This record gives sequence, structure tokens and C-alpha cells, in this order.
Amino acid sequence: MKDLLTDFTARALRYTEGIGERSVTPSPDALQQLAQFDEALPNAPTDAREVLRRLDEFGSPATMAITGGRYFGFVTGGTLPAALAANLLAGVWDQNGAYRVMSPIAAKLEDVALGWMIELLGLPPGAGGGFVTGATMGNLAGLAAARHALLRRQGWRVEEDGLFGAPSLRIVVGDEVHASVLNALQLLGLGRERIERVPADGQGRLRAELLPQLDAQTIVCAQAGNVNTGALDPLTEICSAAHAAGAWVHVDGAFGLWAAACPARAHLAAGLGEADSWATDGHKWLNVPYDSGLVFVRNPDDLRAAVSVTAAYLPTTGEREPSHFIPEMSRRARGVEIWAALRSLGRQGLAELIERCCQHATRFADGLRAAGYEVLNDVVLNQVLVSFGNDDATRRVIAAVQADGTCWCGGTIWQGRAAMRISVSSWRTTEDDVERSLAAMLRVAKTI
Ligand SMILES: *Cc1c(COP(=O)(O)O)cnc(C)c1O
Repeated sequence: MKDLLTDFTARALRYTEGIGERSVTPSPDALQQLAQFDEALPNAPTDAREVLRRLDEFGSPATMAITGGRYFGFVTGGTLPAALAANLLAGVWDQNGAYRVMSPIAAKLEDVALGWMIELLGLPPGAGGGFVTGATMGNLAGLAAARHALLRRQGWRVEEDGLFGAPSLRIVVGDEVHASVLNALQLLGLGRERIERVPADGQGRLRAELLPQLDAQTIVCAQAGNVNTGALDPLTEICSAAHAAGAWVHVDGAFGLWAAACPARAHLAAGLGEADSWATDGHKWLNVPYDSGLVFVRNPDDLRAAVSVTAAYLPTTGEREPSHFIPEMSRRARGVEIWAALRSLGRQGLAELIERCCQHATRFADGLRAAGYEVLNDVVLNQVLVSFGNDDATRRVIAAVQADGTCWCGGTIWQGRAAMRISVSSWRTTEDDVERSLAAMLRVAKTI
């Protein structure tokens, strides 16, 4: 074990120390070397150090340099040092995070981290929550709680009796609803197309004045952080209209929920705490390792009734059992890294991380505009959408930026137009990273 971990440490250091200078995308040579993994399963065992050597020699060069500070794809951040170290130690611990009796420490850190996040994000003090794989599962769990609560009020036991013959529920979404919410509706038997869509404005925000007549059989799916523009729905208006009618509001806040933890941006999330359920990610803006998502529900009993597994052999105590608030049983102890990230940043460090990313995004937008390119969104958070002329030119610039390797940005379609999407979500991104990336974008774009 000692030799193996010593070897591991040296390899991990070599990887992290070189990450800021290497190409963000793997080289063609590195991709070719992936063929090394095309081998028959060996009959005989192999020494663990040899396995690690192969993984590092042929695997590390084929990674995307996500932790290097110049990766701007998919709204995903890097990993904070404390979160990485906590993840590694938790790996050494090998705890099963399902029940308190299986891991007292995993359960404890979940309790603490949940309390901190509820306060940081301005959620109702009595809210409950669970640690899931990502916002997709967070949306599923939150909407399951909504389904439970609305049907329960009508005397229907959906968990026991299913949806056949149940009273009808209406689902209202903004036109810019994220695909993962539709996926949750599909899994919950609520139907991905059996929805009422409300038009969105030019930034992708649900237009609250166009909400249909709501009622107590309606779940309204709002969004905090449009995946393209970063815009947050008008949550105060949505929640007050919904609650006046007895409807439920679920907020998909995969990354945008964290705006609430930053005093300079919190106005964007006004009204957030009025909703009934929320989903967010740890592996996006909080910068913890994959996979890490969260669900919060105003009344923890609704979440528990909707998702928990019950069987006679499973332990229950008077305290919060992690597994009672998520659809899974055995799982890794995700709360450890969330605790470590929050404990290392503190309230101020988290606010600074969020604000720094937003300011970097503004700098990108200013630099691109100054060079004559069109920024398609109001840069209010960490997202920038830029067009380099017509759709074909934009697509060619995106491909060339990715091939250049200085930084990495993805593409999208925004309101019918192709755009390059810059998501600044990493604690590691510095002003120098932004300037180098901007220079590379402009250099590449000039050649197209
Ligand atoms: C990323 C994202 C999701 C899905 O989150 P995963 O962590 O990938 O499951 C859902 N909604 C929004 C707005 C997102 O940005």
C-alpha cells in the first residue's frame, strides 16, 4: 500500500503541476495511445502499481484539462484543493453513505453541509435535502416530492397506488426548460410533452405575466440559471402567482442557485426561498468532484415519502438517515467533499469564487465585443454567448478554438443562431487565463 500510494502521489503531482500549461484538449498522439486499452482481459492478476502506471501513462494524457483554469465548457468547474483531498481521503475510507450505522462520519458531514447550504442559499430553515449524482437526479427527486404532495392533498397515494386512475396534475414550464427536467417528467409518469409551455423573453426567462391560470394541481418548473445565457427566472413573481393558487414551484438551479450565495449577485435570485423544491449541482459551481448534486424540499416529509426505500432490515434511527431523502441506497459519501469545499471557502470565499467567475465572463464579453464580435446575451452571471458572424463561421471558429487547445468552449444554438458558449465556472481561472484564452479566440477567429 505504501509503495502504491507513494507512486500515486508522485503521479498525481505530476498531473496537477503540468495541467496549466498543456493543451486543454488531448493531443492526437494521446488519443491514438488510447488503443493501448484495447487488449484482452488478462488471465493472471497484475500488480496494482502496474495497473496505475498504465492508467497514468496512457490515460492521463487523454483527459480534458478541466482542472487547469481554461476549460469553459458545459458550466462545469474544476475541483477545489480541499474538495479533492477530501474526495481522496473519503476514497481511502470507502464509506457507504446510505445509513448512519454504515458511516457515522458521512451522515454527520451531510447534516452539517445541508445546514450550511440552506443558510447560504436562503432556503427555508426547516427544509430537508439529499445528496444525489447531479441536478438531473435532483430534479427527479424534487419533482417526485411535488407529485407526492399535490396528489396526497387530493387523497391519492401515488407511491402505493401509482398513477393509473390518479387525479390529473398539470405541469407548467418555461419555454427554455432544461432537458433534464423533461427527463424527470418522463421518468415520473408525468409526461415530457404533456406540459404547458410559457414563452420566454430574450434572455430565456419565463415570462411570469404569461403564466396560465394556476391551481392546486399544478407544478410550475422554474429555472435559476439558463444553461445558455445564465439568466434566472423571475422567481418572486412565479412563486407568488403559484402560491396564490396553491401550486407547487420547483426550481432547477443546477448552477444559478449559487448566485444566492454571492451578495453582489443575490438580487438575481430574489424570491428563491419562496419555492417548494430546488435542485442544484456541487460539481458545477461549487467545484467539487463528480458526481455531486443536491435536492432540497421545503417540507422534508414530502421528499422522504416520495423517494425513500422501506424494508424491515433497513435501519432507522431518530436522526436524519441519508438514504431516506434520495432514490438510491448504497452510494459514496458525497457530503464529505461538499463539507470540505464549504469549510475551506467559508461564506466569503464562496461569494468571491462566484463573483470572480462572473467578472471573468464580463471581461470575455467586453473583449469579444471590442474586437467586433456580437455577444448574444446580457452577461449577468458566468455565461457568454458569442457569434463570429454567420452560423457557419461561428461553428468553424468553435472547432478551431477547440483544436487550438489554449482553452475549450462548446457550441450551442441560441434563439435560432449558432453561438460559442463560454462558461466560467472554475475556482482556478485567473485573469491571466482569461487574457490568454481571449487572445487565442481572437487569433483563431481572424483566420476564419
Ligand atoms: C447541468 C444542468 C442540469 C443537469 O445537471 P447534471 O449535473 O448534468 O445532472 C440541469 N439543469 C441545468 C440548468 C443545468 O445547467
